[in-house]
Amino acid sequence: MKRPIMAGNWKMNMTPAESVVLSQSISNRYKGSWDKVDVVLFPPSIDLRSVFTVLDFDKSLIEVGAQNVHWEPSGAYTGEISIPMLKDVGCTWCIVGHSERRSMFGESDMDVNRKVIALTDAGMNAIVCVGESLALRESGDATQFVCDQVKAALAGLDAQEAAFVSIAYEPVWAIGTGQTATPEQAQQMASAIRSTVADLVGQEAADAMRILYGGSMKPANAELFLACPDIDGGLIGGAALKVADFVELVNQAVASAR
Ligand code: PEP
Repeated sequence: MKRPIMAGNWKMNMTPAESVVLSQSISNRYKGSWDKVDVVLFPPSIDLRSVFTVLDFDKSLIEVGAQNVHWEPSGAYTGEISIPMLKDVGCTWCIVGHSERRSMFGESDMDVNRKVIALTDAGMNAIVCVGESLALRESGDATQFVCDQVKAALAGLDAQEAAFVSIAYEPVWAIGTGQTATPEQAQQMASAIRSTVADLVGQEAADAMRILYGGSMKPANAELFLACPDIDGGLIGGAALKVADFVELVNQAVASAR
């Protein structure tokens, strides 16, 4: 396994005051062994400055990321935030193309690609989310669909730029539902994603790329995912809001990294 990433996606939860309490509680549980893992918190954008300040004060190695970004650096894009703004508040990561953004806010494959290009150009880490619906899984077309999402997201990138990209395989039917893919399904998809990345940017870059599983990951089920040869961590929603669960998930990733 490569250096794992354990990413906590807080979604639209936590006021700025609550975000201070949650990030401080996680930071208080930080252990030296966590330096084997990239631990990244993704609070709502209004909380980014507060969370970064908490972690910076603690000299924590936990990093901060945004849940979304616009590809333009500035301009008339009401409601959007830019990469320079994210960098200014200490963000080093950004989630791109989460299924909730694709399905509820009309984010297209082309938008995802523009964001990935802008982030990698700026030297920020992008976690690109891909995943199929239940209907696609049942039709047998899931692998083709997910690999096409990967191709669209990484279009135009070279191997150096791809080094800033990780991919989260998140079956849509497993997000926030309590249902998970089986570790076999997740491994099969992660392996197909890695082959697709190899076709796009070469085998070396594909071997180095970290592929995460996301979808109702919890302490009770994470171990089997983290043991899969092509899975290098998790994108965690609900369980990232519970200090004990998130800390336990990071500890499991540390154990799997040994
Ligand atoms: C997510 O938000 O990306 C996610 C996987 O959520 P959950 O863990 O709650 O399914």
